[in-house]
Amino acid sequence: MAQCAEIFNAHIDWALEHKTYNKSKAHRDLYSQLRLTYPDVPSALLQATRDNALEAIKQTKFKRKPRKKPTSGLRYDKRTMTLRGEQLTLSCIGKRVKLILNVPDYFREIYDNWDFRGATVTYTKQTKQFWVRLVFEHPDPEKLEHGDVQGIDRGLYHLCSTHDGKFFSSNKIRATQRRYLYNRKQLQQKGTRSAKRRLKAMSGREKRFMRDVNHCVSKELANQPEYRIFALEDLSGIRNIRRGKKLNKWLSSWPFSMLEDFLTYKSVALGKKIAKVDARYTSQRCSRCGYCYKANRKKSRFHCRSCHFEAHSDVNSGLNIRDNYFLSSTNWSEEQVAVNQPIVTT
Ligand SMILES: [Zn+2]
Repeated sequence: MAQCAEIFNAHIDWALEHKTYNKSKAHRDLYSQLRLTYPDVPSALLQATRDNALEAIKQTKFKRKPRKKPTSGLRYDKRTMTLRGEQLTLSCIGKRVKLILNVPDYFREIYDNWDFRGATVTYTKQTKQFWVRLVFEHPDPEKLEHGDVQGIDRGLYHLCSTHDGKFFSSNKIRATQRRYLYNRKQLQQKGTRSAKRRLKAMSGREKRFMRDVNHCVSKELANQPEYRIFALEDLSGIRNIRRGKKLNKWLSSWPFSMLEDFLTYKSVALGKKIAKVDARYTSQRCSRCGYCYKANRKKSRFHCRSCHFEAHSDVNSGLNIRDNYFLSSTNWSEEQVAVNQPIVTT
């Protein structure tokens, strides 16, 4: 890793100096010299590092200087590793390293049927562990259907709710937060040493409670077998005017973003993904006819003044979020988006 980091950095310096990320030019200028400097590094690994470096500089358009540390991860490709059955061999200094993989049932289907593309090897200093990440690609990703995407709306009274009417209440969370806030104030006023000790223990308990709730909700969402993509409003950086001060505060709080983080990693582990979509007017616009009007929504009831579509307002938002995903994603034509399935509500 240390030697590859130096090779990587040498390519970055070269690319910045020559203002190019052309791989064969880099090869001509640097390869033989680097082979002499690092005779132990297998040539295929050197070339993989070169490709890695030049792609990194290409991405930054020469504006930043990507750097690797001596413990930075390594990228492996078909030249530097082989996967045969359950045995993975990796190029190394000296002999190739052989690993026998223990593939969990969970990943069996992917492992057996998808195309193996590459791997990265990383190192965690704290635990002194090496990690191998394997990348698989679906040979023929099926076309995305409307039914594969779930729109998820997030709010103050519901931690989140889905376009097909699943609600996850945040009453319990907010009640707990209020209780902790109250207790915290009491203890802070007291200010004694034992009060401080209790404050610390309490903050740990509050965090664990939030984690638990978010784990449960995100797990339930990610595990729904019928959905492959979860569309969420992109709330990063925008101050949402239609939402109140209280709600904006809640939306930018850590317990809230935790749900998104958990849902992201749980979805990825299942081969699904989350997508962020345009957050504007999702609560005012009618998801059936597209009529956008503030008075369409009255608290939790949505009633379209134009086509008289009625739904829970969070469900209507969820539908808009789902459809915004299709509007923004390029693999979907305009025609298909226009057809919204009307929802029959009671
Ligand atoms: Zn309408």
